[in-house]
Amino acid sequence: MAFRHPNFIDEQLASLEQQNLYRRLRIVSVNGPMATVNGKQAIHLCSNDYLGLSQNKRVVEKTTRALRQVSQCSSRLIAGNDPAILELEALLASHRKTESALVYPTGYAANLGVITALADKNTAIFSDELNHASIIDACRLSGATVKIFKHNDSDHLENLLTQSSGRKIIVTEGVFSMDGDSANLREISKATEKHDAITVVDDAHGDFVMGPEFSGAPADAGVNVDVHISSMSKGLGCFGGYVAASDKIRELLINTSRQFIYTSALPDHLCVSAIAAIPIAKKGHLQKKLYRNISHFKKNMTGLGFSLGNSSSQIIPILVGDEKKSVLLSQTLLEEGVFAQAVRYPTVKKGSARLRVSLTAMHTLKHIDIALSCFEQAGKKLQII
Ligand code: PMP
Repeated sequence: MAFRHPNFIDEQLASLEQQNLYRRLRIVSVNGPMATVNGKQAIHLCSNDYLGLSQNKRVVEKTTRALRQVSQCSSRLIAGNDPAILELEALLASHRKTESALVYPTGYAANLGVITALADKNTAIFSDELNHASIIDACRLSGATVKIFKHNDSDHLENLLTQSSGRKIIVTEGVFSMDGDSANLREISKATEKHDAITVVDDAHGDFVMGPEFSGAPADAGVNVDVHISSMSKGLGCFGGYVAASDKIRELLINTSRQFIYTSALPDHLCVSAIAAIPIAKKGHLQKKLYRNISHFKKNMTGLGFSLGNSSSQIIPILVGDEKKSVLLSQTLLEEGVFAQAVRYPTVKKGSARLRVSLTAMHTLKHIDIALSCFEQAGKKLQII
């Protein structure tokens, strides 16, 4: 028996299908650099586990040993402030070279929590046009005036800043999640000083991957920023979000950030995972493998005639444009044993659909060579190259 539902739901779903924008969940089990996707074994090219730490033996063992309770079942300010969270925050602050850090349940919550706490209706937020959905949502929720600057365009940013008065917040990703290019943090840092603004950098994809001691995009660019936001479910291979900033900003967040106050604490065993993963991520041997993989894949894909945009990281868009064709490319690759998801509107602009490939330190050159050969066949078949 079908459940009763209003007509607009059918209409909306039919409209998405008609525009080639319908999204379907697939059943995915991950095993190292491979995944079984709807029953089909494939080389996994869309994981954010860039260093493979989610499957690292030592990290998994320490997490398992720490499992005394599934969750603290409480918010931080009530009874959820386990010592493991504080130990993790000290490590994260030292990692980002800030006075302090504050853990949130996810990176999404961290963006919402920080931006809504720092901005109010008298604030102007300057946001890069390619910023992640969680930043966009945070800006909207804050009630601030939001001014979107063209992607990585410091002249446009400067113009917008000059026209504004009052509290100013500049927000950007460190490494852009769908294009893999880096923000122009040196220019942003100059603009911040000139206009007495606050800079917030969501470095979910640069964290633990780039920069001196792998402390992320601001360190890589050699600049200090006011607020670092990150997710621990990418380079660190764990779970949760965090903010690294001054002691006073941390105090303000504890006192006013609704996404911090009114939600349950990150479970302590997940803090233990991150505590175990950080020293491994700091060694550098995994990044070395990752960088080797990036350079091998990019050189060969460009040689085959694929367009990879301005990626300077492990996130490599295979630009297709047409929504239907990008889904077809993803399906054809999966049939050949390569798992690379198509990314379409509204995650990216209409007409700029792509496959978002992300490489990890778990891939061997053999995995990458097999993937390259599948890309070549599928690209020719669909007349993309
Ligand atoms: N910021 C960026 C740039 C992201 O790509 C993501 C996740 N895709 C998030 C924030 C959210 O992080 P989390 O998955 O920890 O909620």
